[in-house]
Amino acid sequence: MTISSFNPPLRTLMGPGPSDVHPRVLAAMARPTVGHLDPAFIGMMDEVKSLLQYAFQTDNALTFPISAPGSAGMESCFANLVEPGDKVIVCINGVFGLRMKENVERCGGVAIVVEDDWGCSVDAHKVEDALKANPDTKIVAFVQAETSTGVHTDPLILCKLATRYGALSLVDAVTALAGVPVLVDDWGADAVYAGTQKCLSCVPGLSPVTFSERALDKIRKRSSKVQSWFLDLNLIMGYWGEGATRAYHHTAPVNALYALHESLVMLQEEGLENAWHRHAKMHLGLKAGLEAMGLEFAVDEMYRLPQLNAVKIPDGVDDAALRKRALERYGLEIGAGLGAFAGKIWRIGLMGQSATPRNILLCLSTLETLLSQANVKVESGKAVDAAQKILF
Ligand SMILES: *Cc1c(COP(=O)(O)O)cnc(C)c1O
Repeated sequence: MTISSFNPPLRTLMGPGPSDVHPRVLAAMARPTVGHLDPAFIGMMDEVKSLLQYAFQTDNALTFPISAPGSAGMESCFANLVEPGDKVIVCINGVFGLRMKENVERCGGVAIVVEDDWGCSVDAHKVEDALKANPDTKIVAFVQAETSTGVHTDPLILCKLATRYGALSLVDAVTALAGVPVLVDDWGADAVYAGTQKCLSCVPGLSPVTFSERALDKIRKRSSKVQSWFLDLNLIMGYWGEGATRAYHHTAPVNALYALHESLVMLQEEGLENAWHRHAKMHLGLKAGLEAMGLEFAVDEMYRLPQLNAVKIPDGVDDAALRKRALERYGLEIGAGLGAFAGKIWRIGLMGQSATPRNILLCLSTLETLLSQANVKVESGKAVDAAQKILF
């Protein structure tokens, strides 16, 4: 059998990630590969670090991309900061909080779980109670933008609480970064990880991270070695750290880093605040359209993420069949529900380059057609009209 080149179909990506990647970013990725210690490449690495400081709104010197997806950013934070026996408060209100707990336990830490219902944000009162009950807590970990439910949790109060009780804060900002404000220095956050394939609209496979001096101090004072050789920050810093001498640690994903550089240049050109405003406005346009169609959100308006819209599936609609049709006929990908929300919601992503009027109008007209074919009563054209009023 002869296998020929793989030519992916053109899709419109409106799920929980990856998001649509701009042609400029794809073109950057196709530029010639250079050595990972080439002086020209090292200059570009320094630019990536300072562009990431801008995206994270931080002066933290230790701000760089881990050479692996968001999950590895998560793992690098836990593997470096948690020592065996450390108590870690883990806030769980969806899938990614559950994964945090798993990370803590695999690092030999003791997870103190603070649970909130799926679809609700993290309750700071419960976190404070847990801190009072466990004064020896070392870390408070939570997810700012819970992609499994579309819920936002404000990190300011949780980071300040952690600091006040002598603990470090560890924040999952994978879906948050560039979609809603991520203000690492204003919050005093200690360890934050993100992803490239959500609101940065870069290719999947890299995870920007940033660590405060307090976090670095804990890592330097560890009495045991970090159990992961690949993710040990003490070693990675020989390659990504300050100064002109860079030592080989692993071969950086050179072309993927060109892509990240380009997507961050595009973020800087747009302006971080303008990016937040665009996500907010696109969300309002989508919301107006969905509501005109009679659809409802699964999350209270107060906690809704603009970039991840959790929408209730109307009774009697075959979830998988509808999403399959959307993909096959219209090239449109929307996300399924996870865990407690499987079969109950759709997750419509408006992340990065996917947060455009064009995508919203395609999504609304696709849903309108497919829902009416599934015998849901929808008035033809109403959703697109309602969205246009907000979008233009
Ligand atoms: C997507 C996501 C991750 C994992 O990122 P990958 O790139 O898929 O490994 C972690 N946390 C949250 C909140 C996410 O949305």
